[in-house]
Amino acid sequence: EERELPALEEIERRGKANQVACRRIDAQTLKELEPHARGVAALHVPEAGIIDFRQVAKKLAELLQAQGHSIMTEGRVVRLTEHVDKVELATRHDHWQARWAINCGGLYCDRIARMAGLRPAVQIIPFRGEYYELTREAQQLCRNLIYPVPDPRFPFLGVHFTRMVHGGVECGPNAVLAWAREGYRKTQVNLRELAQTLAYPGFWRLSLRYWRTGLGEYVRSFSKRAFVRALRKLVPDVTRQGLRRGRAGVRAQAVTRDGALADDFLLDESQRMIHVLNAPSPAATSALNIGRLIVDRLAEKRHL
Ligand SMILES: Cc1cc2nc3c(=O)[nH]c(=O)nc-3n(C[C@H](O)[C@H](O)[C@H](O)COP(=O)(O)OP(=O)(O)OC[C@H]3O[C@@H](n4cnc5c(N)ncnc54)[C@H](O)[C@@H]3O)c2cc1C
Repeated sequence: EERELPALEEIERRGKANQVACRRIDAQTLKELEPHARGVAALHVPEAGIIDFRQVAKKLAELLQAQGHSIMTEGRVVRLTEHVDKVELATRHDHWQARWAINCGGLYCDRIARMAGLRPAVQIIPFRGEYYELTREAQQLCRNLIYPVPDPRFPFLGVHFTRMVHGGVECGPNAVLAWAREGYRKTQVNLRELAQTLAYPGFWRLSLRYWRTGLGEYVRSFSKRAFVRALRKLVPDVTRQGLRRGRAGVRAQAVTRDGALADDFLLDESQRMIHVLNAPSPAATSALNIGRLIVDRLAEKRHL
């Protein structure tokens, strides 16, 4: 829409400043590229693409193991003690010692930081993102990736269309409070975790500030009609019949005590650990660079 043009311009400016190949296109060119998309203008990013991140993670694991490193999963760290020269970690069945440790606990990173004695400046509030999928007949409505102009007040992108690597088109996600940190379904509730969210002043300050947006997201969660309405702003030919329920993910969103959504990557340190306290999208895309940053920080710590 016309009122979004300044925001589009700003994204173009940032893209160019970061050497992203992108160009501004008019409504006519948009129609040629995405015949069903609606817009007065758009930013075309020919190099944009998606990947199968499960395959990426598998490959990284394979490369590490080939170099003699070990990867252990299915072991939840339940206790953690930092000493001057080492970190002790315990799962329910095992016990480990390390000279250094890195906390990339995602939805639980703040809890792990607390185990290490840190008092993080943020708490993780879980926001579920629910998707629909276009039915086979409706998939011709989207050729590639179609995004709205993001609202700069939020770190979330808004519902968008994504043509997947293995076929199919996903539409979403919305952003609703999950009633459990790993609340991938609407019915999943963890009373202890929910109580922690509700007891956090940052959650209430955030809710007061954005109650209208939050309510809209909830309506879209329960009403397919409302979800379709949001999608139609981008692709007016989408219909209820052309959509079926898809998967959901949970964002680990760091929120400060005064109710601000942390929208940048956030690292903190304790004696022998580095803690990744906010790694929102696009942290998967940037995983290797974030990894490099962490290794540099660790190298600095070792030489102190
Ligand atoms: C709906 C949705 C869409 C997204 N789309 C994109 C996208 O298009 N592009 C992009 O770049 N990013 C995207 N992201 C964001 C991306 O998924 C995250 O930025 C990324 O996964 C963060 O990585 P992480 O390693 O910090 O945390 P995670 O990937 O959450 O990993 C944390 C790990 O820690 C483990 N863990 C937790 N507690 C413990 C414990 N006590 N002991 C041991 N292990 C523990 C968990 O089991 C998990 O394996 C999306 C996220 C969502 C929810």
